[in-house]
Amino acid sequence: MKSFYVYILRCSDGSYYCGQTDNIEARTQQHFAGEIGYTATRKPVELLWQGEFETREGAIAFEQQIKRWSQAKKEALIAGDWNRIQELAKSKKTSSHPELSVLSPVEGVERSARLRQAQPERGEVTDKFDVLDRILDGEAMAQRRAIAKAITLLESTRTDHRVQADELLTSLLPHTGKSFRLGISGVPGVGKSTFIEVLGLYLIKLGHRVAVLTIDPSSTVSGGSILGDKTRMEMLSVHERAYIRPSPSRGSLGGVAEKTREAMLVCEAAGYDVVIVETVGVGQSETAVANMTDMFVLMQLPNAGDDLQAIKKGVMELADLVIINKADIDADAAMRAEVQITSAMRLFGLANNAMGQVQAAAFDSFWHAQVLQLSALHNKGVDAFWAAVTQFKTLQTANGKLAERRKQQALSWMWERVEAGLKQAFRKDPAVASLLPKMIAGVVSGKLPASTAARNLLAAQQIRA
Ligand code: GDP
Repeated sequence: MKSFYVYILRCSDGSYYCGQTDNIEARTQQHFAGEIGYTATRKPVELLWQGEFETREGAIAFEQQIKRWSQAKKEALIAGDWNRIQELAKSKKTSSHPELSVLSPVEGVERSARLRQAQPERGEVTDKFDVLDRILDGEAMAQRRAIAKAITLLESTRTDHRVQADELLTSLLPHTGKSFRLGISGVPGVGKSTFIEVLGLYLIKLGHRVAVLTIDPSSTVSGGSILGDKTRMEMLSVHERAYIRPSPSRGSLGGVAEKTREAMLVCEAAGYDVVIVETVGVGQSETAVANMTDMFVLMQLPNAGDDLQAIKKGVMELADLVIINKADIDADAAMRAEVQITSAMRLFGLANNAMGQVQAAAFDSFWHAQVLQLSALHNKGVDAFWAAVTQFKTLQTANGKLAERRKQQALSWMWERVEAGLKQAFRKDPAVASLLPKMIAGVVSGKLPASTAARNLLAAQQIRA
């Protein structure tokens, strides 16, 4: 039986394009090749979502429906968060046409599930292996779509999706771990996208494949994104050897970090051998990124040295390398910053690992945090940066630190998932849910200490358990 598809593409200008077709492979290829008038100038770069329908009329009606949806609702659809779609629909009542509201996305998906059941050769299991096969060994375009599909599944909050996502991750795991995981952080405007673009293109020239993932805590708080609201990495984002995924926009920072970590594994299994995780220097996102990468790089502006107090000590301690970008603007300030940050880092290094007591030979076999000057805009210093990264990798592999860090990354992942699971179970617990409004009211009015409220809630759950 023939199928019809509704799909959403992400364009290089950050916008979404919705369409419908009966040949999703050919259609998306045409979009990517710029052969379709509607999107030729918006340059679609990624298939974010696709839904399967039994009839063309069904697909067209659903396409018309989602074209009128808000950005938030489209994002919920891409993330597979049907509850959120329903909530948004209730709060806005946009779809007043009864014949269209019949075609909810849930139904679209249920229909496609029914369709799959009716045709065993296209069943769930085949579909899962299809995605897996394509990630591991697909032709470029098919692989890109499979990656997007897998990440969308990982980002879904539906319990059944979570189970499928875990199965997929388990199958992918043996194929992961071969990339170098590089974390990059810095305040908005320091030049992260400019730098990642030149670095990515440099690495592609050296024969690497580069994935860029972002963690942007602002997108979880305000729905807006510091990292995502402008055209970023224009050349890299359309390069066939690069894969760029913006920050997941829902959930707590923990949730977002967890999704990014899992997306990283998908990219690794697909053969991207350098994975860059980018974050802004706000909130706790730096710690999250440092916990999932092999090397953590902090980007600073040349005037950073004038005000070392402004650089959070905790973040400096996480940094394996500090780069002072925009060195072209003021060479003296950049030099001053290099000297001051170097001496500050040395102090942290000595305090951290008691290097003072270690023999000189051992000293040489460990990586010591470095400071480098750079001008991303003028493409200066990128080779020196990569030489430092390579040196870091060689040293830390030989002395076993990298393997240790990988183990820590896996354990952090496990604990993140445990915490997320506990929190979810806690919130879902009926005893907790019934007591919660009273506790919230008590804490907010100042009549009940937060610690007592927390104890009561925990006790309520334990009694039931
Ligand atoms: P992000 O917010 O950290 O991603 O920063 P962007 O990469 O968007 O850069 C912010 C601004 O700084 C842009 O206007 C860039 O052109 C500029 N910029 C980035 N790197 C350099 C550099 O090395 N030198 C100079 N002079 N400007 C730069």
